[in-house]
Amino acid sequence: MIDRLPYEPPEFHPGWVWLVGAGPGDPGLLTLLAWHALRSADVVVHDALVGTDILSLVRDDAELEYAGKRGGKPSPRQPDITARLIELAKQGKRVLRLKGGDPFVFGRGGEEAAALVQAGVPFRVVPGVTSGIAGPAYAGIPVTTRGTNHAVTLVTGSDAGGDVPDGLDWDALAKGSPVLIVYMALRHMKALSDRLLASGRAPDEGVAVISDATLPSQRVLITRLDVCAEETEIAAMKAPAIVCVGPVVALRRSLDWFGATP
Ligand code: SAH
Repeated sequence: MIDRLPYEPPEFHPGWVWLVGAGPGDPGLLTLLAWHALRSADVVVHDALVGTDILSLVRDDAELEYAGKRGGKPSPRQPDITARLIELAKQGKRVLRLKGGDPFVFGRGGEEAAALVQAGVPFRVVPGVTSGIAGPAYAGIPVTTRGTNHAVTLVTGSDAGGDVPDGLDWDALAKGSPVLIVYMALRHMKALSDRLLASGRAPDEGVAVISDATLPSQRVLITRLDVCAEETEIAAMKAPAIVCVGPVVALRRSLDWFGATP
């Protein structure tokens, strides 16, 4: 266990909120700042996606509050969560708002920061390792290589109402981005693959579905665009999962390292 950080971190002042990314699950992917925040906070308001391994790192006398969000399940409303953060900060607590992955990548961290600004509550943002990049990496899939793609797009498979986002120009995405990393896509695989196929992506294009990425329970399904919805169902892939579409998926064949033994 680290007892001293290898640098002097900024002080976590009482009355401040730190919006911190916990990374995708493997506690080894926490940043030093996230670790420092976990060891300093009086109260930790966390999401469903933050696992017990990471939550067990908080100070013994710190309070843990669950403010989870999970597609389809009842969860506290966003305004209630931000109101609670403001209330705790105004009580003079060091408030750690802990989110899976990176707080500003499909994590509503931007909305929470805006609410803190409006309430006059000082805050800091601690970026985290996002699941859309770390998940493929733990599956042996680099999200870019010089030989395959010069662009990658992070996209959400669900909008606020839980449907495939209609406001997105799927045609432009399909044509313009050789690699797509889709968050929150599991329930919409059919709609997603149909849209990409209709926009000209090849039926045999590689698709990886990575669930519980970076955790010991990680599972990876390698499939093709035309059959990915059925195969995802047959394989009973579970949320949270990242879906990666594009030529980089084939690189897993030679780069899969997770679970290799020395
Ligand atoms: N802020 C987070 C994303 C929050 S949206 C981040 O940067 O990673 C929630 C979605 O993130 C999930 O539906 C899933 O698509 C993805 N996700 C988060 N953790 C994951 C994990 N360990 N494995 C696979 N997908 C994950």
